[in-house]
Amino acid sequence: MANDHTCLIVDDDPFQCKLLSHQLASLGADRIETCTSAAEVLNRIDRGKIPDLLILDLNLPEMDGLEMLRHLAARHFGGALILVSGEDEPILATAARLAREHGLCILGQLRKPVTLEALSEVLVCHRPRSAPARRPARRYAAEVLSRALDEGQLCGFYQPKVRVADAGVVGAEYLVRWRHPEDGLVFPDAFIPVAESHGLIGRLTMSVLDDALGQLHVWRRQGLDLTVAVNVSMADLSHPGFADRVLGLCRRHGVAPEHLVLEVTESRLERTLTAVLEVLGRLRLNRLRLAIDDFGTGHSSLTRLRDLPFDELKIDRSFTHRAWQDDKRRTIFESSLEMGRRLGLTVVAEGVEDGEDWGYLKNLGQDLLAQGYHVARPMPAEAFSRWLTHPH
Ligand code: C2E
Ligand code: CA
Ligand code: CA
Repeated sequence: MANDHTCLIVDDDPFQCKLLSHQLASLGADRIETCTSAAEVLNRIDRGKIPDLLILDLNLPEMDGLEMLRHLAARHFGGALILVSGEDEPILATAARLAREHGLCILGQLRKPVTLEALSEVLVCHRPRSAPARRPARRYAAEVLSRALDEGQLCGFYQPKVRVADAGVVGAEYLVRWRHPEDGLVFPDAFIPVAESHGLIGRLTMSVLDDALGQLHVWRRQGLDLTVAVNVSMADLSHPGFADRVLGLCRRHGVAPEHLVLEVTESRLERTLTAVLEVLGRLRLNRLRLAIDDFGTGHSSLTRLRDLPFDELKIDRSFTHRAWQDDKRRTIFESSLEMGRRLGLTVVAEGVEDGEDWGYLKNLGQDLLAQGYHVARPMPAEAFSRWLTHPH
């Protein structure tokens, strides 16, 4: 079902609808429609009229917003969603969390009265995620992905990791992309889950590592003191031969293991098996660097963190971005930073999206690293090389 490129505002208060319509129009939206009940929205969707963007008031009279989220999820609503409410921030945050759990594509949540600035921030910051190429419009079949791997259609974009103190570049994270012959550039959330559930992730990770190490070798030969970070999946780490294969690839490319970082998502580490511990331990013994990714989104206990052989802690973007403005985010961000430091880990703030985020980090100490759109977006290797010589 295709989206119909409209922005649909749902609020039982016609004045609110009008206000939001004006604000959206002033931000450049051209097809804006409004309606005053949840039933009307569901009815529209059932008739195949899927809005591209849905702005949903949580306090609708006949059906509350939380129930509405369930109905949207049941219809596999693929448009972008913004939640609006006069309730306080924790309720909005809970609703947003629920929307994510339902697999809905949520751009953000706004408190009433909605200001133009807040609306524009939600729309602008997240537009890349909601752009057509970014949304997993369809799930790719495993055979198609497997062929793409054989034909070398995957490639890497590199995003810099810099020191907050002087903006010096310490390394790059490799973010995989699929140059799809018909669909254009496809982002990892549209195919990594397929690779993981169809036993293709091992091959994918090896091809990514091969590519990343080849590039790292080139950069280091040019005299650039960089590390490259690659994302690995739990299935990779559960394989007893993984450590040897990675170390073998490092040797083959003439790259010292300490210049390679492997990133593992925190939530995946919760039930770490002994086999995984052994692989991580062996990699670490061989001086490879290990990073905990998306920190704050899982439930790792302190004991767990103490016992895992990690070097780096990457604080998830949901705590970094706008931490300067939001007490809860700031509290979580600063306690994670403090904990990382005490455990002797290098701490990276992910999702530094704008100057305000950057300004906030500047006051938090010399040793912090940062990554995010404010520094640079992920880019192909050649563009990264150019960016290194002319950063801004
Ligand atoms: P991640 O490891 O947390 O990577 C960071 C993601 O945030 C990237 O999305 C990046 O483009 C995006 N990002 C960077 N800075 C900002 C910012 O300032 N604001 C916002 N809103 N986003 C920012 P991407 O490339 O779509 O990757 C999504 C996820 O896919 C990655 O999350 C990672 O978990 C996974 N992934 C990427 N490459 C690979 C890979 O080669 N192998 C595996 N197994 N997973 C990968
Ligand atoms: Ca990562
Ligand atoms: Ca991350």
